[in-house]
Formats: sequence, C-alpha cells, structure tokens
Amino acid sequence: AKVAGKNCYRFYSRAMDQAVERRVHLEHELRGAWDRGELSLVYQPLFRVSDHTLVGAEALLRWQHPDHGMIAPSVFIDVAEQSGLIEVLGPQVLRAACEDAMQWRGTRAEREPLFVSVNLSPRQLRGTDLPRLVAEVLRDTGLPAQQLHLELTETAVLSDESQASALLSELRATGVQVWLDDFGTGFSGLSHLRRVPIDGVKIDRSFVADILRDPDDLALTTAIIAMAHSLGIIVIAEGVEKDGQYGLLRERGCDLAQGYLLGHPLPMSEFMALL
Ligand code: C2E
Ligand code: CA
Ligand code: CA
Ligand code: CA
Repeated sequence: AKVAGKNCYRFYSRAMDQAVERRVHLEHELRGAWDRGELSLVYQPLFRVSDHTLVGAEALLRWQHPDHGMIAPSVFIDVAEQSGLIEVLGPQVLRAACEDAMQWRGTRAEREPLFVSVNLSPRQLRGTDLPRLVAEVLRDTGLPAQQLHLELTETAVLSDESQASALLSELRATGVQVWLDDFGTGFSGLSHLRRVPIDGVKIDRSFVADILRDPDDLALTTAIIAMAHSLGIIVIAEGVEKDGQYGLLRERGCDLAQGYLLGHPLPMSEFMALL
C-alpha cells in the first residue's frame, strides 16, 4: 500500500506539473492567437418568448487551435483572465462583436434591429476604464448603444457591491443594457436585485434544465421572473433544449430565451443567413 501510495503521489505530482506546464503553454499560444486569426466569434440567437421573434444574439468566443482543434472558452477564458491577457482580448472581442452587429443592421431594412450581447469577465470590470472603452467602441463602429448588451457574472458584481453599482450606473449611462449572467448560481438571493442597477438577469441553465421535473427549480424560476418584473428587470433563460421548457417559460412570462432548441451558436456567415 505504501508503494502504491508513493507511486500515486508521484503520479499526482507529475500530473500537476503537466497541468501547470500546459497552462503556461496555453497562455503563450493564446497571446498571439487573435492576430493569427485563430480566435473568432460565434453567435447564438436570442428569441423573444411571447411571439418567438429573433431579437438578438450572444457573442461567444472560439479558439481554433492549429494542432489541438477547437478549444472551448471554459478552458481558455480562465487562462486569459488569470494571466491578464483578457485586458487585451476583451476589447478586441467587444469591437469585433459591435462591427458584426453593424453588418446585421444592413440586412434588416425596416425590421427591428438586432442587439448583440457580449460577455465580460470579472477582471474587465476591475481593470481599465470600461465605460470609456464602451463609449469609444460604439463611436468607432457606429453601433447604437441600445443594440449592445453586456453580460456580467453574478459573482463579479457581488464581490464588491457598492463599487459595482457605481460602475454599472456609468455603463448604463452610455445607453447599453447590462445583464447579470448565470443568475441563481451565486446564492446572492433575489433581494440583491434591488440594489444593483441592471436591465436583465439570465437564469442559469442548470435551473432551466430541471424545470420540467424538479418543482423547486420551477418555483425558483417563477419567483425570479416575478421578482425581476416587479423591479422592472427583464428575464432571459439560457440552455433551453426542450419544447416543454420553452412552453413553461412562456407561460411564466419569461422575456427572452436561448438554447439548442432555438439555435446553436453559429459563425458570422451562417448567422447572417438566418436574417
Ligand atoms: P455563458 O455566458 O453562460 O454562455 C452560454 C454557454 O452555454 C455557451 O457555452 C453556449 O454555447 C452554451 N449553450 C447554449 N445553449 C445551450 C443549451 O441549450 N444547452 C447547453 N448545455 N449549453 C448551451 P460556450 O460557448 O462554451 O461558453 C462557455 C462560457 O465561456 C460562457 O458561458 C462564458 O462565460 C464564457 N465566454 C464565452 N465567450 C466569452 C467572451 O467573449 N468573453 C468572456 N469573458 N467570456 C466568454
Ligand atoms: Ca453569457
Ligand atoms: Ca450563462
Ligand atoms: Ca434541481
């Protein structure tokens, strides 16, 4: 047993070294990935639930690595965040998404223009002057502010409520909408919604996944919708995969939805073909 334990330890330690090594390597490669054209945005459609109308899309980052193939954002966003690389990458993503949304406008003629929703990582909130960046990108690309939505995670906003509130107010003053992402996972409680100035909450897909079979998740989702609406906040459901979920969300008054049932994330050209 002792020997096995020792081997086990060795193995574990080597595995950890490899993980660290891999991380450093990943960071190094990620550094030039945007300029090499390996990073791109895909767009997942968002629908208004009441009349099933396409109203916008969420921009999601993809890394097409020359050797390792497609690397998921869950793997590399973390690396970008911890290394500080996100401070370069984040603004590039924001700008590219706004440029793409300007292109959608061209195809929409008389119809309602679509918004683009962009994810911001916690570090982007703490870092550089975000409201100024947003204003600058809107000015440079010509995208009207109402057509840009920003998704911030609950935990990023909750870690320092008063500072976050000031920042959110400044952001909203530029005319963009601010949504709280992954809502419900941070256990912040609904009362929190009263104190942070936001336009929408995105119910985390772990709740949506279970609303058909778990009465608690349905009750929670229904309560979030009621509470949010009483505060003038809209509700977005993510991870909608089944007809039954979509129907139930409509019945409970959920405002917007996205998920594989409604549309997978698509490269720009394929998304444009939908319009
Ligand atoms: P998120 O913001 O919660 O994005 C939703 C994730 O759920 C996306 O994964 C999307 O592809 C996936 N998804 C959409 N519909 C369904 C569904 O019906 N079922 C299931 N099971 N999944 C669904 P993705 O693209 O892998 O992104 C993962 C996370 O990486 C995102 O989670 C977001 O936190 C982060 N991320 C992606 N792009 C960016 C970015 O440009 N900047 C930052 N800071 N973070 C990003
Ligand atoms: Ca998101
Ligand atoms: Ca989410
Ligand atoms: Ca559950």
